[in-house]
Amino acid sequence: MKKNGTSSCSTDAAFTSSSLPQSLWAATATAPADYSRLSESETCDVAIIGAGFTGLSTAIHLAERGHKVIVLDAAEPGWGASGRNGGQIITGLKHNPDDLIAALGDEMGNRVIRAMGGAADLVFSLIDRYGIDCHAQQSGWIQAAHGPKPYEDLVVPRCRQWQARGVDARLLDRAEISAMIGSAPEAYFGGWFDPRGGLLQPLSYARGLAKAALAEGAKVCARSPVLSLSRDGDHWILKLAQTAIRARQVVMATNAYTGDLWPGLAQTVIPVSSFQIATRPLDEKTRARILPGGQGVADTRRLLLYFRLDHQGRFVMGGRSPVDDNPSKADGAPLQAAIRRLFPMIDPSHIDYVWSGKVGITRDSLPHLHLLGPGLIAALGCNGRGVAMCTMMGRIIADLASGVAPADLAFPVTVPNAFPFHQFRKIGVFAMSQYYRLLDRLEAGL
Ligand SMILES: Cc1cc2nc3c(=O)[nH]c(=O)nc-3n(C[C@H](O)[C@H](O)[C@H](O)COP(=O)(O)OP(=O)(O)OC[C@H]3O[C@@H](n4cnc5c(N)ncnc54)[C@H](O)[C@@H]3O)c2cc1C
Repeated sequence: MKKNGTSSCSTDAAFTSSSLPQSLWAATATAPADYSRLSESETCDVAIIGAGFTGLSTAIHLAERGHKVIVLDAAEPGWGASGRNGGQIITGLKHNPDDLIAALGDEMGNRVIRAMGGAADLVFSLIDRYGIDCHAQQSGWIQAAHGPKPYEDLVVPRCRQWQARGVDARLLDRAEISAMIGSAPEAYFGGWFDPRGGLLQPLSYARGLAKAALAEGAKVCARSPVLSLSRDGDHWILKLAQTAIRARQVVMATNAYTGDLWPGLAQTVIPVSSFQIATRPLDEKTRARILPGGQGVADTRRLLLYFRLDHQGRFVMGGRSPVDDNPSKADGAPLQAAIRRLFPMIDPSHIDYVWSGKVGITRDSLPHLHLLGPGLIAALGCNGRGVAMCTMMGRIIADLASGVAPADLAFPVTVPNAFPFHQFRKIGVFAMSQYYRLLDRLEAGL
Protein backbone atom coordinates (compact mmCIF):
# COMPACT_ATOMS: atom_id res chain seq x y z
CA MET A 1 0.00 0.00 0.00
CA LYS A 2 1.40 3.41 -0.98
CA LYS A 3 1.82 5.90 1.87
CA ASN A 4 2.44 9.63 1.57
CA GLY A 5 3.51 12.71 3.44
CA THR A 6 5.42 13.84 6.45
CA SER A 7 3.77 15.61 9.38
CA SER A 8 0.34 15.14 10.95
CA CYS A 9 -2.83 16.86 9.73
CA SER A 10 -4.79 15.68 12.75
CA THR A 11 -6.87 18.36 14.45
CA ASP A 12 -8.72 16.43 17.15
CA ALA A 13 -10.02 19.45 18.97
CA ALA A 14 -11.70 21.05 15.97
CA PHE A 15 -14.56 18.57 15.53
CA THR A 16 -16.24 17.90 18.84
CA SER A 17 -18.12 14.75 17.83
CA SER A 18 -15.30 13.08 15.94
CA SER A 19 -15.25 9.76 17.78
CA LEU A 20 -17.06 6.91 16.09
CA PRO A 21 -20.49 6.39 17.70
CA GLN A 22 -21.18 2.97 19.21
CA SER A 23 -23.09 0.64 16.93
CA LEU A 24 -23.27 -2.95 15.78
CA TRP A 25 -21.06 -2.00 12.85
CA ALA A 26 -18.46 -0.20 14.97
CA ALA A 27 -18.27 -3.25 17.23
CA THR A 28 -17.81 -5.78 14.41
CA ALA A 29 -15.94 -3.89 11.65
CA THR A 30 -12.53 -4.66 10.23
CA ALA A 31 -9.74 -2.43 11.58
CA PRO A 32 -9.22 0.97 9.95
CA ALA A 33 -6.14 1.74 7.86
CA ASP A 34 -3.28 3.79 9.12
CA TYR A 35 -4.55 7.04 7.60
CA SER A 36 -2.37 9.60 5.82
CA ARG A 37 -0.53 12.52 7.29
CA LEU A 38 -0.16 15.89 5.56
CA SER A 39 2.79 18.17 5.32
CA GLU A 40 2.34 21.79 6.37
CA SER A 41 0.95 22.90 3.05
CA GLU A 42 -0.13 20.56 0.32
CA THR A 43 -1.21 20.87 -3.27
CA CYS A 44 -3.31 18.35 -5.12
CA ASP A 45 -5.44 17.99 -8.21
CA VAL A 46 -8.62 17.17 -6.31
CA ALA A 47 -9.40 17.64 -2.61
CA ILE A 48 -12.42 15.67 -1.40
CA ILE A 49 -14.29 16.79 1.70
CA GLY A 50 -16.04 13.86 3.39
CA ALA A 51 -14.89 10.24 3.52
CA GLY A 52 -18.13 8.33 3.15
CA PHE A 53 -19.02 6.14 0.17
CA THR A 54 -19.33 9.20 -2.12
CA GLY A 55 -15.97 10.74 -1.27
CA LEU A 56 -14.07 7.45 -1.11
CA SER A 57 -15.47 6.08 -4.36
CA THR A 58 -14.62 9.40 -6.03
CA ALA A 59 -11.08 9.14 -4.66
CA ILE A 60 -10.57 5.58 -5.96
CA HIS A 61 -11.88 6.43 -9.42
CA LEU A 62 -9.77 9.59 -9.66
CA ALA A 63 -6.57 8.17 -8.17
CA GLU A 64 -6.64 5.14 -10.49
CA ARG A 65 -6.70 7.62 -13.42
CA GLY A 66 -3.53 9.26 -12.10
CA HIS A 67 -4.95 12.33 -10.31
CA LYS A 68 -3.31 13.48 -7.11
CA VAL A 69 -6.13 13.22 -4.57
CA ILE A 70 -6.52 14.10 -0.89
CA VAL A 71 -9.63 12.99 1.06
CA LEU A 72 -10.37 14.81 4.30
CA ASP A 73 -12.83 13.73 6.95
CA ALA A 74 -13.68 15.72 10.05
CA ALA A 75 -13.87 12.44 11.98
CA GLU A 76 -12.81 9.30 10.11
CA PRO A 77 -13.80 7.32 7.00
CA GLY A 78 -17.26 5.85 7.58
CA TRP A 79 -18.08 8.15 10.51
CA GLY A 80 -21.19 9.57 8.75
CA ALA A 81 -24.14 7.64 7.34
CA SER A 82 -21.76 5.34 5.44
CA GLY A 83 -20.63 3.56 8.59
CA ARG A 84 -24.03 3.50 10.29
CA ASN A 85 -26.58 2.46 7.67
CA GLY A 86 -28.53 -0.76 7.18
CA GLY A 87 -25.93 -2.23 4.82
CA GLN A 88 -28.63 -3.03 2.25
CA ILE A 89 -27.35 -2.81 -1.31
CA ILE A 90 -30.32 -1.43 -3.21
CA THR A 91 -30.42 -0.89 -6.95
CA GLY A 92 -32.35 1.96 -8.48
CA LEU A 93 -33.66 5.21 -7.10
CA LYS A 94 -36.84 6.06 -5.26
CA HIS A 95 -38.39 6.82 -8.67
CA ASN A 96 -39.51 4.13 -11.10
CA PRO A 97 -37.57 3.89 -14.38
CA ASP A 98 -40.51 5.20 -16.46
CA ASP A 99 -40.83 8.22 -14.16
CA LEU A 100 -37.15 9.00 -14.67
CA ILE A 101 -37.65 8.96 -18.43
CA ALA A 102 -40.67 11.26 -18.06
CA ALA A 103 -38.72 13.66 -15.84
CA LEU A 104 -35.32 13.62 -17.55
CA GLY A 105 -36.16 12.74 -21.14
CA ASP A 106 -35.22 9.61 -23.09
CA GLU A 107 -31.50 10.06 -23.34
CA MET A 108 -30.58 11.28 -19.84
CA GLY A 109 -33.32 9.14 -18.27
CA ASN A 110 -31.89 5.99 -19.84
CA ARG A 111 -28.34 6.96 -18.85
CA VAL A 112 -29.43 7.40 -15.23
CA ILE A 113 -31.35 4.10 -15.29
CA ARG A 114 -28.32 2.26 -16.68
CA ALA A 115 -25.93 3.83 -14.17
CA MET A 116 -28.14 3.31 -11.16
CA GLY A 117 -29.25 -0.13 -12.37
CA GLY A 118 -25.57 -1.12 -12.45
CA ALA A 119 -24.68 0.45 -9.09
CA ALA A 120 -24.91 -2.79 -7.08
CA ASP A 121 -22.62 -4.55 -9.55
CA LEU A 122 -20.11 -1.71 -9.13
CA VAL A 123 -20.15 -2.27 -5.35
CA PHE A 124 -19.50 -6.00 -5.75
CA SER A 125 -16.79 -5.42 -8.36
CA LEU A 126 -14.92 -2.98 -6.08
CA ILE A 127 -15.21 -5.47 -3.22
CA ASP A 128 -13.74 -8.18 -5.47
CA ARG A 129 -11.04 -6.01 -7.01
CA TYR A 130 -9.71 -4.69 -3.70
CA GLY A 131 -10.46 -7.79 -1.61
CA ILE A 132 -12.68 -5.83 0.79
CA ASP A 133 -13.66 -7.98 3.76
CA CYS A 134 -17.21 -6.77 4.57
CA HIS A 135 -19.45 -9.86 4.65
CA ALA A 136 -20.85 -8.92 1.25
CA GLN A 137 -23.41 -11.16 -0.42
CA GLN A 138 -25.37 -10.61 -3.62
CA SER A 139 -28.41 -12.41 -2.25
CA GLY A 140 -30.99 -9.95 -3.57
CA TRP A 141 -33.23 -7.31 -2.05
CA ILE A 142 -36.94 -7.34 -1.26
CA GLN A 143 -39.38 -4.46 -1.13
CA ALA A 144 -42.38 -5.48 0.97
CA ALA A 145 -45.80 -3.85 0.47
CA HIS A 146 -47.56 -2.88 3.70
CA GLY A 147 -51.00 -3.06 2.02
CA PRO A 148 -52.83 -3.64 -1.28
CA LYS A 149 -52.59 -0.01 -2.41
CA PRO A 150 -48.79 0.30 -2.20
CA TYR A 151 -48.55 -3.14 -3.80
CA GLU A 152 -50.61 -2.06 -6.83
CA ASP A 153 -49.37 1.55 -7.07
CA LEU A 154 -45.70 1.09 -6.30
CA VAL A 155 -44.46 -2.50 -6.22
CA VAL A 156 -46.14 -3.90 -9.34
CA PRO A 157 -45.11 -1.08 -11.74
CA ARG A 158 -41.57 -0.94 -10.34
CA CYS A 159 -41.07 -4.68 -10.74
CA ARG A 160 -42.63 -4.75 -14.21
CA GLN A 161 -40.55 -1.78 -15.41
CA TRP A 162 -37.29 -3.42 -14.33
CA GLN A 163 -38.42 -6.72 -15.88
CA ALA A 164 -39.03 -4.84 -19.14
CA ARG A 165 -35.39 -3.72 -18.95
CA GLY A 166 -34.12 -7.27 -18.66
CA VAL A 167 -33.82 -7.61 -14.87
CA ASP A 168 -34.78 -11.03 -13.51
CA ALA A 169 -37.03 -9.42 -10.88
CA ARG A 170 -40.21 -11.08 -9.68
CA LEU A 171 -43.40 -10.25 -7.83
CA LEU A 172 -44.07 -12.00 -4.53
CA ASP A 173 -47.53 -12.78 -3.21
CA ARG A 174 -48.48 -12.79 0.46
CA ALA A 175 -47.51 -16.43 1.04
CA GLU A 176 -44.19 -16.16 -0.83
CA ILE A 177 -43.07 -13.03 0.97
CA SER A 178 -44.01 -14.45 4.35
CA ALA A 179 -41.94 -17.59 3.60
CA MET A 180 -38.99 -15.59 2.28
CA ILE A 181 -38.74 -13.18 5.19
CA GLY A 182 -40.25 -15.25 8.03
CA SER A 183 -42.88 -12.67 8.94
CA ALA A 184 -46.42 -13.28 10.17
CA PRO A 185 -48.70 -14.03 7.16
CA GLU A 186 -50.69 -10.83 7.75
CA ALA A 187 -47.54 -8.66 7.99
CA TYR A 188 -47.12 -7.92 4.27
CA PHE A 189 -49.54 -8.01 1.36
CA GLY A 190 -46.82 -8.92 -1.16
CA GLY A 191 -43.64 -7.48 -2.59
CA TRP A 192 -40.99 -7.76 -5.25
CA PHE A 193 -37.59 -9.41 -5.35
CA ASP A 194 -34.62 -7.71 -7.01
CA PRO A 195 -31.73 -10.15 -7.57
CA ARG A 196 -29.16 -7.37 -8.09
CA GLY A 197 -29.08 -6.24 -4.46
CA GLY A 198 -27.68 -7.75 -1.30
CA LEU A 199 -26.03 -7.04 2.01
CA LEU A 200 -22.73 -5.92 3.48
CA GLN A 201 -21.19 -4.64 6.71
CA PRO A 202 -21.22 -0.91 5.92
CA LEU A 203 -18.38 0.30 8.15
CA SER A 204 -16.11 -2.50 6.92
CA TYR A 205 -17.05 -1.52 3.36
CA ALA A 206 -16.23 2.18 4.02
CA ARG A 207 -12.93 1.24 5.63
CA GLY A 208 -12.20 -1.11 2.73
CA LEU A 209 -12.86 1.71 0.23
CA ALA A 210 -10.49 3.94 2.21
CA LYS A 211 -7.80 1.23 2.00
CA ALA A 212 -8.45 0.91 -1.74
CA ALA A 213 -8.09 4.70 -2.19
CA LEU A 214 -4.79 4.60 -0.28
CA ALA A 215 -3.65 1.67 -2.42
CA GLU A 216 -4.38 3.72 -5.54
CA GLY A 217 -2.14 6.49 -4.19
CA ALA A 218 -4.70 8.90 -2.69
CA LYS A 219 -4.12 10.42 0.72
CA VAL A 220 -6.97 9.76 3.16
CA CYS A 221 -6.91 11.93 6.29
CA ALA A 222 -8.97 11.37 9.43
CA ARG A 223 -9.67 14.03 12.07
CA SER A 224 -9.20 16.76 9.47
CA PRO A 225 -12.22 19.06 9.42
CA VAL A 226 -12.13 21.58 6.61
CA LEU A 227 -12.82 24.91 8.25
CA SER A 228 -13.10 27.18 5.22
CA LEU A 229 -13.03 27.11 1.47
CA SER A 230 -11.93 30.06 -0.65
CA ARG A 231 -10.73 30.86 -4.16
CA ASP A 232 -7.19 32.04 -4.91
CA GLY A 233 -6.54 32.61 -8.62
CA ASP A 234 -7.27 29.33 -10.38
CA HIS A 235 -7.07 27.22 -7.21
CA TRP A 236 -9.18 26.52 -4.15
CA ILE A 237 -7.73 26.91 -0.67
CA LEU A 238 -9.02 24.57 2.02
CA LYS A 239 -8.12 25.69 5.52
CA LEU A 240 -7.64 23.08 8.21
CA ALA A 241 -6.68 23.81 11.80
CA GLN A 242 -2.96 23.32 11.27
CA THR A 243 -2.47 23.38 7.52
CA ALA A 244 -3.95 24.47 4.22
CA ILE A 245 -4.44 22.62 0.95
CA ARG A 246 -4.29 24.13 -2.52
CA ALA A 247 -6.45 22.17 -4.92
CA ARG A 248 -7.34 22.63 -8.55
CA GLN A 249 -10.73 21.03 -7.92
CA VAL A 250 -12.80 20.29 -4.81
CA VAL A 251 -15.52 17.69 -4.25
CA MET A 252 -17.94 18.25 -1.38
CA ALA A 253 -19.22 14.84 -0.30
CA THR A 254 -20.68 15.74 3.08
CA ASN A 255 -24.30 14.70 2.49
CA ALA A 256 -26.59 15.06 5.55
CA TYR A 257 -23.60 16.29 7.58
CA THR A 258 -23.08 19.31 5.32
CA GLY A 259 -22.22 22.42 7.32
CA ASP A 260 -21.78 26.01 6.17
CA LEU A 261 -18.61 25.65 4.07
CA TRP A 262 -20.53 26.68 0.97
CA PRO A 263 -23.48 29.09 1.30
CA GLY A 264 -26.83 27.49 0.56
CA LEU A 265 -25.66 23.90 0.13
CA ALA A 266 -26.89 22.64 3.52
CA GLN A 267 -30.34 24.03 2.68
CA THR A 268 -30.68 21.59 -0.25
CA VAL A 269 -30.99 18.56 2.06
CA ILE A 270 -33.07 17.86 5.12
CA PRO A 271 -31.10 15.66 7.52
CA VAL A 272 -33.59 13.12 8.88
CA SER A 273 -32.59 10.76 11.69
CA SER A 274 -33.00 7.06 11.15
CA PHE A 275 -32.10 4.53 13.83
CA GLN A 276 -31.58 0.81 14.15
CA ILE A 277 -31.63 -1.85 16.80
CA ALA A 278 -29.85 -5.21 16.71
CA THR A 279 -31.14 -8.06 18.83
CA ARG A 280 -28.85 -10.63 20.37
CA PRO A 281 -28.04 -13.45 17.86
CA LEU A 282 -31.18 -15.49 17.16
CA ASP A 283 -31.30 -19.11 18.28
CA GLU A 284 -30.66 -21.61 15.50
CA LYS A 285 -34.29 -22.67 15.01
CA THR A 286 -35.53 -19.08 14.64
CA ARG A 287 -32.57 -18.08 12.52
CA ALA A 288 -33.34 -20.84 10.03
CA ARG A 289 -36.81 -19.35 9.43
CA ILE A 290 -35.95 -15.64 9.29
CA LEU A 291 -34.66 -14.49 5.88
CA PRO A 292 -33.16 -17.91 5.02
CA GLY A 293 -32.07 -16.51 1.63
CA GLY A 294 -30.07 -13.71 3.28
CA GLN A 295 -31.83 -10.75 1.61
CA GLY A 296 -32.20 -7.22 2.90
CA VAL A 297 -35.76 -5.89 3.11
CA ALA A 298 -37.32 -2.44 3.18
CA ASP A 299 -41.05 -1.92 3.21
CA THR A 300 -43.21 0.57 1.34
CA ARG A 301 -44.30 2.62 4.37
CA ARG A 302 -43.58 6.33 4.06
CA LEU A 303 -41.91 5.95 7.47
CA LEU A 304 -40.29 2.80 6.25
CA LEU A 305 -39.09 -0.15 8.27
CA TYR A 306 -36.01 -1.99 7.01
CA PHE A 307 -34.48 -5.20 8.30
CA ARG A 308 -31.91 -7.92 7.76
CA LEU A 309 -29.76 -10.40 9.67
CA ASP A 310 -26.13 -9.58 10.38
CA HIS A 311 -23.38 -12.13 9.78
CA GLN A 312 -23.72 -13.38 13.37
CA GLY A 313 -27.49 -13.90 13.18
CA ARG A 314 -28.68 -10.76 14.94
CA PHE A 315 -31.96 -9.37 13.65
CA VAL A 316 -31.36 -5.73 12.69
CA MET A 317 -34.33 -3.41 12.15
CA GLY A 318 -34.33 0.30 11.35
CA GLY A 319 -36.89 3.06 11.13
CA ARG A 320 -37.55 6.74 11.76
CA SER A 321 -35.75 7.76 14.94
CA PRO A 322 -37.69 9.19 17.91
CA VAL A 323 -34.60 11.25 18.87
CA ASP A 324 -32.03 13.12 16.79
CA ASP A 325 -28.78 11.57 18.01
CA ASN A 326 -27.52 8.89 20.39
CA PRO A 327 -30.71 6.90 20.98
CA SER A 328 -30.78 4.82 24.17
CA LYS A 329 -31.97 1.22 24.42
CA ALA A 330 -35.23 2.58 25.85
CA ASP A 331 -35.74 4.56 22.62
CA GLY A 332 -35.73 1.23 20.76
CA ALA A 333 -39.23 0.39 22.10
CA PRO A 334 -41.14 1.28 18.87
CA LEU A 335 -38.89 -1.00 16.82
CA GLN A 336 -39.20 -3.78 19.41
CA ALA A 337 -42.98 -3.41 19.11
CA ALA A 338 -42.74 -3.59 15.31
CA ILE A 339 -40.68 -6.78 15.54
CA ARG A 340 -43.24 -8.36 17.89
CA ARG A 341 -46.06 -7.44 15.51
CA LEU A 342 -44.42 -8.49 12.24
CA PHE A 343 -42.16 -11.33 13.44
CA PRO A 344 -43.90 -13.12 16.32
CA MET A 345 -41.24 -15.83 16.37
CA ILE A 346 -38.49 -13.32 17.30
CA ASP A 347 -38.08 -12.26 20.92
CA PRO A 348 -36.69 -8.70 20.71
CA SER A 349 -36.60 -8.07 24.44
CA HIS A 350 -32.82 -8.17 24.54
CA ILE A 351 -31.19 -5.53 22.32
CA ASP A 352 -27.43 -5.66 21.81
CA TYR A 353 -27.07 -2.30 20.01
CA VAL A 354 -29.05 0.89 19.22
CA TRP A 355 -27.60 3.62 17.02
CA SER A 356 -28.64 6.32 14.58
CA GLY A 357 -27.47 8.38 11.63
CA LYS A 358 -28.71 11.09 9.33
CA VAL A 359 -30.29 10.46 5.93
CA GLY A 360 -30.06 13.32 3.40
CA ILE A 361 -33.49 13.97 1.87
CA THR A 362 -33.85 16.22 -1.20
CA ARG A 363 -36.92 18.02 -2.53
CA ASP A 364 -37.35 15.70 -5.51
CA SER A 365 -36.13 12.50 -3.76
CA LEU A 366 -33.26 12.31 -6.27
CA PRO A 367 -29.54 12.51 -5.49
CA HIS A 368 -28.08 15.83 -6.60
CA LEU A 369 -24.88 16.60 -8.45
CA HIS A 370 -23.89 20.28 -8.60
CA LEU A 371 -21.14 22.40 -10.07
CA LEU A 372 -21.02 25.22 -7.52
CA GLY A 373 -18.09 27.12 -9.01
CA PRO A 374 -15.11 26.50 -11.30
CA GLY A 375 -13.93 23.00 -10.35
CA LEU A 376 -16.15 22.91 -7.26
CA ILE A 377 -18.38 19.83 -7.33
CA ALA A 378 -20.95 18.74 -4.74
CA ALA A 379 -22.95 15.50 -4.60
CA LEU A 380 -25.46 14.73 -1.92
CA GLY A 381 -28.91 13.42 -1.12
CA CYS A 382 -29.06 9.71 -1.83
CA ASN A 383 -32.34 9.63 0.12
CA GLY A 384 -31.55 6.47 2.07
CA ARG A 385 -30.16 4.54 -0.89
CA GLY A 386 -26.52 5.43 -0.74
CA VAL A 387 -24.65 2.13 -0.43
CA ALA A 388 -24.87 1.46 -4.15
CA MET A 389 -25.90 4.93 -5.37
CA CYS A 390 -23.10 6.90 -3.65
CA THR A 391 -20.56 4.36 -4.87
CA MET A 392 -21.79 4.92 -8.43
CA MET A 393 -22.01 8.68 -7.89
CA GLY A 394 -18.31 8.63 -6.98
CA ARG A 395 -17.49 7.20 -10.40
CA ILE A 396 -19.65 9.84 -12.10
CA ILE A 397 -17.99 12.64 -10.10
CA ALA A 398 -14.60 11.25 -11.16
CA ASP A 399 -15.74 11.50 -14.79
CA LEU A 400 -16.76 15.13 -14.26
CA ALA A 401 -13.52 16.03 -12.47
CA SER A 402 -11.54 14.29 -15.23
CA GLY A 403 -13.02 16.55 -17.88
CA VAL A 404 -16.15 14.76 -19.14
CA ALA A 405 -18.63 17.49 -20.11
CA PRO A 406 -21.65 17.76 -17.79
CA ALA A 407 -24.00 17.03 -20.70
CA ASP A 408 -22.20 13.71 -21.36
CA LEU A 409 -22.33 12.38 -17.80
CA ALA A 410 -24.47 9.47 -16.63
CA PHE A 411 -26.27 11.80 -14.22
CA PRO A 412 -27.58 15.36 -14.68
CA VAL A 413 -25.74 18.30 -13.17
CA THR A 414 -28.35 20.59 -11.63
CA VAL A 415 -28.44 23.91 -9.81
CA PRO A 416 -28.92 23.67 -6.03
CA ASN A 417 -32.57 23.43 -5.11
CA ALA A 418 -33.02 24.66 -1.55
CA PHE A 419 -35.93 23.75 0.70
CA PRO A 420 -38.00 26.83 1.52
CA PHE A 421 -38.17 27.54 5.28
CA HIS A 422 -35.21 25.20 5.86
CA GLN A 423 -34.64 26.78 9.26
CA PHE A 424 -37.99 25.35 10.38
CA ARG A 425 -37.16 21.84 9.14
CA LYS A 426 -37.53 20.17 12.54
CA ILE A 427 -41.15 21.30 12.85
CA GLY A 428 -41.79 20.27 9.23
CA VAL A 429 -40.25 16.82 9.70
CA PHE A 430 -42.28 16.29 12.88
CA ALA A 431 -45.55 17.32 11.22
CA MET A 432 -44.91 15.21 8.10
CA SER A 433 -43.97 12.20 10.25
CA GLN A 434 -47.31 12.34 12.08
CA TYR A 435 -49.19 12.62 8.81
CA TYR A 436 -47.20 9.82 7.15
CA ARG A 437 -47.69 7.56 10.17
CA LEU A 438 -51.45 7.99 9.83
CA LEU A 439 -51.42 7.26 6.07
CA ASP A 440 -49.20 4.19 6.60
CA ARG A 441 -51.56 2.82 9.24
CA LEU A 442 -54.63 3.37 7.07
CA GLU A 443 -53.00 1.60 4.10
CA ALA A 444 -51.90 -1.32 6.29
CA GLY A 445 -55.47 -1.61 7.59
CA LEU A 446 -54.41 -1.01 11.20
C1 LIG B 1 -29.55 4.89 9.68
C2 LIG B 1 -29.34 4.87 8.19
C3 LIG B 1 -29.65 3.72 7.48
C4 LIG B 1 -29.43 3.66 6.08
N1 LIG B 1 -29.62 2.47 5.44
C5 LIG B 1 -29.26 2.37 4.14
C6 LIG B 1 -29.28 1.11 3.49
O1 LIG B 1 -29.58 0.06 4.11
N2 LIG B 1 -28.98 1.07 2.16
C7 LIG B 1 -28.61 2.19 1.48
O2 LIG B 1 -28.34 2.09 0.27
N3 LIG B 1 -28.51 3.39 2.09
C8 LIG B 1 -28.81 3.51 3.40
N4 LIG B 1 -28.67 4.70 4.03
C9 LIG B 1 -28.16 5.87 3.27
C10 LIG B 1 -26.63 5.83 3.12
O3 LIG B 1 -26.02 5.44 4.31
C11 LIG B 1 -26.14 7.21 2.69
O4 LIG B 1 -26.83 7.62 1.51
C12 LIG B 1 -24.65 7.23 2.36
O5 LIG B 1 -23.90 6.57 3.35
C13 LIG B 1 -24.17 8.67 2.23
O6 LIG B 1 -22.79 8.63 1.98
P1 LIG B 1 -21.95 9.95 1.78
O7 LIG B 1 -20.57 9.53 1.50
O8 LIG B 1 -22.60 10.80 0.75
O9 LIG B 1 -22.07 10.73 3.18
P2 LIG B 1 -21.62 10.31 4.66
O10 LIG B 1 -21.29 8.87 4.77
O11 LIG B 1 -22.67 10.82 5.58
O12 LIG B 1 -20.26 11.08 4.86
C14 LIG B 1 -20.17 12.47 5.01
C15 LIG B 1 -18.86 12.76 5.72
O13 LIG B 1 -18.57 14.16 5.61
C16 LIG B 1 -17.77 14.49 6.71
N5 LIG B 1 -17.76 15.96 6.85
C17 LIG B 1 -18.79 16.82 7.01
N6 LIG B 1 -18.35 18.08 7.07
C18 LIG B 1 -16.99 18.04 6.94
C19 LIG B 1 -15.96 19.02 6.91
N7 LIG B 1 -16.22 20.34 7.04
N8 LIG B 1 -14.67 18.62 6.77
C20 LIG B 1 -14.36 17.30 6.62
N9 LIG B 1 -15.33 16.33 6.64
C21 LIG B 1 -16.62 16.69 6.79
C22 LIG B 1 -18.43 13.77 7.88
O14 LIG B 1 -17.50 13.58 8.96
C23 LIG B 1 -18.86 12.45 7.23
O15 LIG B 1 -17.97 11.37 7.51
C24 LIG B 1 -28.92 4.80 5.40
C25 LIG B 1 -28.63 5.97 6.13
C26 LIG B 1 -28.82 6.00 7.50
C27 LIG B 1 -28.46 7.24 8.26
